[in-house]
Amino acid sequence: MKNVLSLAVLALFLAACASLPPEQQAQRIHASAPVFDGHNDLPGEIRGAGSSFERYDIAQRLDHGHTDIPRLRAGGVGAQFWSAYIPTSEIAKGTSARHCREQIELIRAMCARYPKDMELALTAADVERIRSSGRIAGLIGIEGGHAIENSLETLREFHALGARYMTLTHNDTLDWADAATDEAKHGGLTAFGEQVVREMNLLGMLVDISHVSADTMRDVLRVSTAPVIASHSSAFALVPHPRNVPDDVLRLVAKNGGVVMVNFAPGFVDAEAAKIFLGFYAAKRAIDAQTTDEAERGRRVEEWRKANPLPPVPFTNVADHIEHIARVAGVDHVGIGSDFDGIPAGPVGLEDVSTYPVLTAELLCRGWSERDVRKVLGANALRVLRACERVASELRASEARKR
Ligand SMILES: [Zn+2]
Repeated sequence: MKNVLSLAVLALFLAACASLPPEQQAQRIHASAPVFDGHNDLPGEIRGAGSSFERYDIAQRLDHGHTDIPRLRAGGVGAQFWSAYIPTSEIAKGTSARHCREQIELIRAMCARYPKDMELALTAADVERIRSSGRIAGLIGIEGGHAIENSLETLREFHALGARYMTLTHNDTLDWADAATDEAKHGGLTAFGEQVVREMNLLGMLVDISHVSADTMRDVLRVSTAPVIASHSSAFALVPHPRNVPDDVLRLVAKNGGVVMVNFAPGFVDAEAAKIFLGFYAAKRAIDAQTTDEAERGRRVEEWRKANPLPPVPFTNVADHIEHIARVAGVDHVGIGSDFDGIPAGPVGLEDVSTYPVLTAELLCRGWSERDVRKVLGANALRVLRACERVASELRASEARKR
């Protein structure tokens, strides 16, 4: 009887899908609920082209990379955290902060260069205003806490320049925080690491727990008085890669009011691909130790990738991760952080920024309500940004009262 019933439900569901094609429904939803993606590495690609907008002109449909304005439009993107990524190889050279300033400047210049399509957003209100004018809100997220060179002063400078989140580490453990893909030296955050989190709360800068170790995530969630984000991380329970977020942390994020934005990288959303991809971190460190020439490093990374190909991964895996996080943390705590242009290739079906509606259609076909889909696409991210601003102004008001 139970089987007959579930077959009947399935038939009804398929009929519903067939009567209104989910692709059409997805396009309609995207028109009024634009995507707010947590992480895109286009600025790194532009830097690779000599930071030249002539050589890397995103006004046109490019035949390389994952991102340009025509494809952002096709994908229904309304807000994007652009990554100011700083390689950890800058630490030894003492040039992390300079590199960060340059990437922030590049993102600001990019937003200013295409005013018909983009504008820099500094607040949740900016995001809403820019989106309602039919353009894309561009926000700045720093990738790698080494950017601040152990200085709260430099952190404040980056906030003043417009950065609205900072990923506490990249792939390597820092003096004050353990990374997910390096040796744990502190068991999470040090006392200074906790100070960084508190200062970010005070500034109204989102603390990003992508890339940090699970213990660092737990420490952040103990210390932070504002909701946090994982700007580009998937679920550890489905794919046990240290870059993914374990279930106990997902529950803590729910309590904290934050959002985990699912990364599309095949190496994070597929268990077989993850096993292969885990070897990348040691290989990258070995390459960095062998040469300081960035072009040569890039070539050797490509060689490693060619020698260690990942299996094709279907886009439905990304929907699985979204569903898992929604199940464990709640639908208010899951979002999208594609990592486009920071990953060699997306899963089959999610190849670039034009493809988000495919994911929307998949969620609809799995029985998701339009209301819940809207939360995942961007409403959750916007809520968290606004809450972070509110906490900062409350903290500043209470500090002023104490003085
Ligand atoms: Zn990353």
